[in-house]
Amino acid sequence: MTDLVHLDSIAAMRAQAHAWRREGLTIGFVPTMGALHAGHVSLAEAARATCDRVVASVFVNPTQFAPTEDLDQYPRDLAGDSAKLAAAGCDALFTTTPEEMYGPGYCTWVTVEGLTKRLCGASRPTHFRGVTTIVTKLLNVVTPTHAFFGEKDRQQLVVLGRMVRDLGLPVEVIGCPIVREPDGVAMSSRNLYLTPEQRPAALGLSTGLRAAQAAFAGGEASGPTLEAIVRGVLEEAGAEPDYVEAVHPETLERVATADADTIVAVAAFVGKTRLIDNAVLSEPLPTPTA
Ligand code: AMP
Repeated sequence: MTDLVHLDSIAAMRAQAHAWRREGLTIGFVPTMGALHAGHVSLAEAARATCDRVVASVFVNPTQFAPTEDLDQYPRDLAGDSAKLAAAGCDALFTTTPEEMYGPGYCTWVTVEGLTKRLCGASRPTHFRGVTTIVTKLLNVVTPTHAFFGEKDRQQLVVLGRMVRDLGLPVEVIGCPIVREPDGVAMSSRNLYLTPEQRPAALGLSTGLRAAQAAFAGGEASGPTLEAIVRGVLEEAGAEPDYVEAVHPETLERVATADADTIVAVAAFVGKTRLIDNAVLSEPLPTPTA
């Protein structure tokens, strides 16, 4: 448990970061949209283990939501978030407002081409422009030496790694493993939308990925066949697939023939809730314990 300082403006965050950098301290940064769960906490713990100071941000970034999406309903719980971040050993919580981040006349964007057209980018065409822009802006304010992102949002991690390399930003991007519920569902703030009746359908994503891994381990290497296996499980569970793709881990291009490093990425609707998950074919998901 640390004394968590709440810095609620760009100016306050900049001043603190500047003071730490002048002392020569490393700063680990965990950007989030709040409604924190054990997945977010694992990123904060990884930052705590790596860096002298740890900053987490909570900002529900409007520019990564399409007008039809869940910006207004997105869960918010700043008091709960603060307690979890303090328990994880964070030094500072940075919050800001849409007005401070996107002032009047705002018209500057960071875009990563190609990679952002695939997977989630196909059904959420403006999403990644919002993500890359806000992360660039947050990196400018927090000036971290290390930034931590979850493999849960695999495409986001790949896109941000590409962006940091392409722009030569002075920060190391670190990916952290997916934290799952005991039943295997990947933790997500959006799981709060699920009713108990929808839980079996939500389980279809991780069960489908496990089935693809088992088929691959049994000798099945056709990308389309592995995708069809996941689709079958999703449909049986009552989840509506948005996409299921076996892709290269860096280019995110679909593969005809899978290998051990191939990632199977899935997005599916459970009712109105859109869930995502992914797995490396050769890294078996833990067996569910619930
Ligand atoms: P979000 O608040 O959904 O924008 O997520 C903030 C960060 O937490 C992102 O880097 C996510 O990839 C990461 N994250 C979300 N869920 C998980 C999870 N279940 N396991 C690991 N990291 C996660």
